[in-house]
Amino acid sequence: MKTAIFIDDLFLKHDTGSYHPETPERLKAIQEYFEKKNLLNQFVLLPKRFAKKSEIELVHNGPYIDFVEQLCKKGSGYLDGDTPVSKDSCEAAKLAAGCGLEAIDQILEQKIERAILLVRPPGHHSLKGRGMGFCLFNNIAIAARYALQKGFKKIAIVDWDVHHGNGTQDEFYREKEVLFISIHQFPFYPGTGAIDEIGEGEGLGYTLNVPMPRGSTDADYKKAFENRILPKLIEYEPELILISAGFDAHKLDPLGGQELTTGMFEWMTEKLLNLSKDCSKGRMISFLEGGYSLPALAESVAVHSEVMLD
Ligand SMILES: [Zn+2]
Repeated sequence: MKTAIFIDDLFLKHDTGSYHPETPERLKAIQEYFEKKNLLNQFVLLPKRFAKKSEIELVHNGPYIDFVEQLCKKGSGYLDGDTPVSKDSCEAAKLAAGCGLEAIDQILEQKIERAILLVRPPGHHSLKGRGMGFCLFNNIAIAARYALQKGFKKIAIVDWDVHHGNGTQDEFYREKEVLFISIHQFPFYPGTGAIDEIGEGEGLGYTLNVPMPRGSTDADYKKAFENRILPKLIEYEPELILISAGFDAHKLDPLGGQELTTGMFEWMTEKLLNLSKDCSKGRMISFLEGGYSLPALAESVAVHSEVMLD
C-alpha cells in the first residue's frame, strides 16, 4: 500500500513578516532537501483540496472563521501577539485543513495507507474561537472530527511537538472517541499539558500528558515512549493514528530547549508505524506542526517520511 504526501506552493504565501520563526523558508528547506535526496517521487501526491467553511466548523465557530477571513481580506493583522496573517493566509489555512480531509477519504477508499502533510500554518494551538501560537485552524482536530463523522470510532492523536497541543486537547477533553497524547517540554509555552490533565467526564483517562523537563534527551524520550505512550496506545487500539509532527524538540531548534537528535524522529515514527500495523491497518497521517531550525527540520522530516514509506 502507498504513502501519500502533500506539499503546495500556496503554503509559501502565508506571510508572517521578516522576524517570525514560522516562515515559508521552512517548507522551502524541506522541498529542497527532498529534491536533493530524490524523495518526493516515491510518494503518491495528494490532489489539492480546500476545507469548506462547514468542515472547518467541525472544530471552530463561525464568527472566528469569518474573523480570520476578514482580517486576511484587509491584507494583514494579528490573531494574537505571535500569530500574524497576510492576504493569502486564510486560503493557505483552508488548504492545510483540507488536505487532511482528502487523506482520510483516500484512506477510506483504500487508495493510500498513510499520508504526510507538509502544511503551514500549523494548527495544534488553535482553539475553537481563537487562533494562537502561529496556528489559524486546528488541522489535526478538524481531520479527527471528519474521520469520526466518516465512521471511525477510535482515533489516537500523538503530538510530539515540543509545545503542548492545547487546542487539540481542549477539543477532545470530554470524549473517549479520540485519545490525545502529548509529549512536550514543560513548563513551557503555552503553559498547559501538566501531568494531571487527563480528561473529564466521558473523556476521563483519554488525555495523556507526558511533560518533559528542559534538556531532555533521546534516552529520556525513549523511556517515556516505552513506559507511558506505547502501552497507552496498545491498550486503546486506535483504528487511525494521527501525528502532530513538530520537529522543534530537536537539539538545534532555536525555540525549543530539548536535546533530541534527528534519529529520535525516525525512532518515534518506527514505533508508531509498527503499532499502527498491529491495530489500525497501518493507517497513519502526520501533520507538520513546528520546527524552526531549517537544516534540522529538513533532515528530520526526511527521516520521518522515509519510515512512513515503509
Ligand atoms: Zn512547537
